[in-house]
Amino acid sequence: MKNIQFITKILHAKFSKEDPHGSLHAPLYENVAFEFKNAEELELAFQGKKPSHMYSRISNPTIEHFEQRIKAVTGAVGVLALASGMAAISNSVLTVAKAQDNIITSKHLFGNTYSLFQQTLKDWGLETRYADLTKPETIPGLIDGKTRAIFLETITNPQLEVADLRALSKIAKERNILLIVDTTTTPPYLFPAKEFGVDIEVLSSTKWISGGATSVGGLIIDHGLYDWKKNEKLRSDAVKLGPFTFINRLRREVYRNIGACLAPHNAYLQSLGLETLPLRIDAACANTLKIAEFLRSSSWVKTVNYPGLKESPFYAIARAQFAGKPGAILTFDLASKEQCFKFMNRLQWIRRATNLHDNRTLILHPASTIFCEYEPALKEEMGVRETSIRLAVGIEDSRDLIADLEQASEGLR
Ligand SMILES: *Cc1c(COP(=O)(O)O)cnc(C)c1O
Repeated sequence: MKNIQFITKILHAKFSKEDPHGSLHAPLYENVAFEFKNAEELELAFQGKKPSHMYSRISNPTIEHFEQRIKAVTGAVGVLALASGMAAISNSVLTVAKAQDNIITSKHLFGNTYSLFQQTLKDWGLETRYADLTKPETIPGLIDGKTRAIFLETITNPQLEVADLRALSKIAKERNILLIVDTTTTPPYLFPAKEFGVDIEVLSSTKWISGGATSVGGLIIDHGLYDWKKNEKLRSDAVKLGPFTFINRLRREVYRNIGACLAPHNAYLQSLGLETLPLRIDAACANTLKIAEFLRSSSWVKTVNYPGLKESPFYAIARAQFAGKPGAILTFDLASKEQCFKFMNRLQWIRRATNLHDNRTLILHPASTIFCEYEPALKEEMGVRETSIRLAVGIEDSRDLIADLEQASEGLR
């Protein structure tokens, strides 16, 4: 059969070894060490001549099964599951760049990613050059011989900007640098990263994939598009390893040495989450559009921002890149911060919490929470307003969500 769809592939992905009991679910291997029949086998495993699991910080059958399922649906050359989305981002950058190198990104980034570049990696000598990635024509002027990658998020949060990935991929390719994209808000199923020229996809599987905020995790997906001979740090490996250069360096050096491994229990939960990912994404995206339309028609709302609304400047590009499902986050503005708080405090079903893509709908005032450590000028540069509320829409019945929003607005009149 050809063209097997995402959910079918996920549900029927083969185990790497047949289960002796015929279990339909890949069992959870909640262990650390694996034993070998004799010393010779152990030597072969350590030399990498006979791939086997040895120690769960390095690999584990439950984590491997989760990775294999992602491989089955993306056709990637390499997939690595890690402890968190931040681990995926930091391990990727540490693998392809070194001190004195630079990367190009935008200030419209997940807060901890911004801090990783601006503080943690800066202290180790990595320079970050900030640009408006929705204006690709401004990028080539920032690239020099030390630039290793363009890094961006598919839908920024809370700005909800969508850059043209084909245009950025073209620039990256012409200048032999990597396009690394954080697809947390648009994971595989919503966004076929390889088709848009993404070299390395990184994401927080904590969000959509975990199946309703069950566990923290991250993924690195190498789509096999980049010629690793063109990366200075990995060039010598590439002669021998070709397309497996990056995943090999990650597994055998960076991931292993940093130790931000996924717990097998979390891999099990995330693997379960994958089984219902398309159903949950479809439901939440449909809810988001309905809520966006409701808010747009409400007099107490100043503005609504969602790339799925026709008036969004990113409507067309979001439609082209995300198959008509531009995520499940929207923002809207009320008259003041006080009004935002008053409104949030009246909600009965929608929860006040910081996370994305829980099964439940979550509400947050970004300026006073996830961006609270930034100076007002930087918040403004980041497009974070005191009057904005972020809604991360879940899979409840949209009628109940809209009724909750409606009743909360009564406090504003
Ligand atoms: C949450 C998030 C991360 C970090 O993921 P963790 O799993 O919490 O480490 C990175 N990027 C984006 C876009 C996120 O939303």
